[in-house]
Amino acid sequence: MRLLVIEDEDRLSGILKSKLGDIGFTVDIAGSAGDASAALELINYDAAILDLGLPDGDGLAVLTATRQIGKGLPILILTARDAVEDRVAGLNAGADDYLTKPFAIAELIARIKALLRRPGGVLGSDDRRGPRPFITPGAGDPRTDDAPIRAYRAKSRARGEALRD
Ligand code: CA
Repeated sequence: MRLLVIEDEDRLSGILKSKLGDIGFTVDIAGSAGDASAALELINYDAAILDLGLPDGDGLAVLTATRQIGKGLPILILTARDAVEDRVAGLNAGADDYLTKPFAIAELIARIKALLRRPGGVLGSDDRRGPRPFITPGAGDPRTDDAPIRAYRAKSRARGEALRD
């Protein structure tokens, strides 16, 4: 899976490349809005991480241009801008997720994986008929058997622990 990290801080993009590389992603780095737009037009990335404060322009312009040329890849905005109106502007411009700096790398990775699991995402199904129907736990489907949960609860109760749902 190939990701594009659009980030002008070399130290941060280096960390992201290394951490995401550790879990199997191929990571390209674009340090400017111009490089990012060129890369996104040329290569079909599975997802992109987008900083908003870039030396030659605003990340939002990159986002808008990318959507305008019909690229639907998941894009996560990673920025220090944490005002509600910034988040709303980012999501309205076509971002799929928004994370503010400082951030935990574990959360960033979890969010990227979640985006890739969505229908149409590289780890998701291409079934666009909508969400799977809810199956009542224990209704005969082995995948939803809640016996382990019941056993855990019984054990917790025996130990007098509070139940954690
Ligand atoms: Ca920046």
